[in-house]
Amino acid sequence: MTQTVPDLESLRALGAAQQPTWPDPSALDDAVAKLRGVPPLVFAGECDDLKAKLGAVARGEAFLLQGGDCAETFEGVTADNVRNKLRVLLQMAVVLTYAASVPVVKLGRIAGQYAKPRSSDTETRDGETLPAYRGDAVNGFDFTGAARVPDPQRLVEVYHSSAATLNLVRAFVTGGYADLRQVHTWNTDFVRESPVGRRYERLAAEIDRALTFMKAIGADPDEFHRVDFHSSHEALVLEYEHALTRIDSRTQQPYDVSGHFLWIGERTRQLDGAHVELLSKIRNPIGVKLGPTTSPDDALALAAKLNPDNEPGRLTFITRMGAGKIRDHLPDLVEKVTAAGVTVAWVCDPMHGNTFEASSGYKTRRFDDVISEVQGFFDVHGALGTWPGGVHVELTGDDVTECVGGGEALLEDDLHNRYESVCDPRLNRVQSLELAFLVAEMLSA
Ligand code: PEP
Ligand code: MN
Repeated sequence: MTQTVPDLESLRALGAAQQPTWPDPSALDDAVAKLRGVPPLVFAGECDDLKAKLGAVARGEAFLLQGGDCAETFEGVTADNVRNKLRVLLQMAVVLTYAASVPVVKLGRIAGQYAKPRSSDTETRDGETLPAYRGDAVNGFDFTGAARVPDPQRLVEVYHSSAATLNLVRAFVTGGYADLRQVHTWNTDFVRESPVGRRYERLAAEIDRALTFMKAIGADPDEFHRVDFHSSHEALVLEYEHALTRIDSRTQQPYDVSGHFLWIGERTRQLDGAHVELLSKIRNPIGVKLGPTTSPDDALALAAKLNPDNEPGRLTFITRMGAGKIRDHLPDLVEKVTAAGVTVAWVCDPMHGNTFEASSGYKTRRFDDVISEVQGFFDVHGALGTWPGGVHVELTGDDVTECVGGGEALLEDDLHNRYESVCDPRLNRVQSLELAFLVAEMLSA
């Protein structure tokens, strides 16, 4: 039976957390009307492919690597930026696949990640209070009254920026850049000479030898030459996600064609709220972030509403407890969800429970806390006999200084050198590769 999607007014009537206060409703209507007419960014069949892959994750047969910026920006839509992010994800995926011999599902937090929930509606600097920055989808990052006014035309720009990003990503992953014979060439510039870069180089050399051997015996499958890569973002701004929800002509089912995988954040997962309602109606694979206050009953109610047929791959729970809490809070959740016979992919976001403000005022995270949360995640699942299905990380392909620690031992005093995130701190490329090696060790332990 075809699912019907509620209209925008009924969704709004349910109440939606974390929405901008748009100053001009008619400008918003214009933007929505424009978005209703644009072509899809992704196809329903691609979403189904990803759902099948996530089904393998839920069954314990594959591992999910999901990563990208906390907040993409329009300015960040450049060839270098997109390639660098893709490259670090490809490197991490190779490390995980080769070192742990597990299929890795590659999912970018990319081509749509432009809207942010905020802990406060306003931001105060030097005595001046302005509306908080809610992501490029809503307003500007500059701390001026003019920049911070929500502008619905930005939603149209989200669409075009996502289209440009996705177009480049598709060209990279199918056009030769992601060919496994390129494993060495991904290891460039500042990373190459780092200890983790040298470790990667040794692994790449082993892969090269294996590929040469395979070729010599006449095996050269398609999988060596391209990768499957999908896009994801938080489904936050109702107008945008609703306007891009379309009925697939093949199946007559609704899909949100703004991205392959959409997730609901920790702050918008109210069971009777608009976000849960909208995502319950679309057929994409979806995720929900679960923080340390989530009870097993909350998780079960979300699963019942979002995945009533218990379809494998449909629902991913992305836990983000904090390094100090995961060992206390995760076991009960996983145990009760599993005991209820509910099929989900369990994924660890080791970033959002570990943010703190450095004395210099920068928001940061300790690399060791991130690793410790992932280790806790593996230990909890290990003890329960459930599958630690993947990691969800905020990262960038550049040499930024936003998270402290890691092999380069970045200090709080280093943060100002290259702090470029407009929202949460990201692992830089060296730290991301280090994480991949450490996770690979946990996976193969
Ligand atoms: C995020 O993923 O950037 C985010 C806001 O996370 P959460 O919903 O877990 O707070
Ligand atoms: Mn974030």
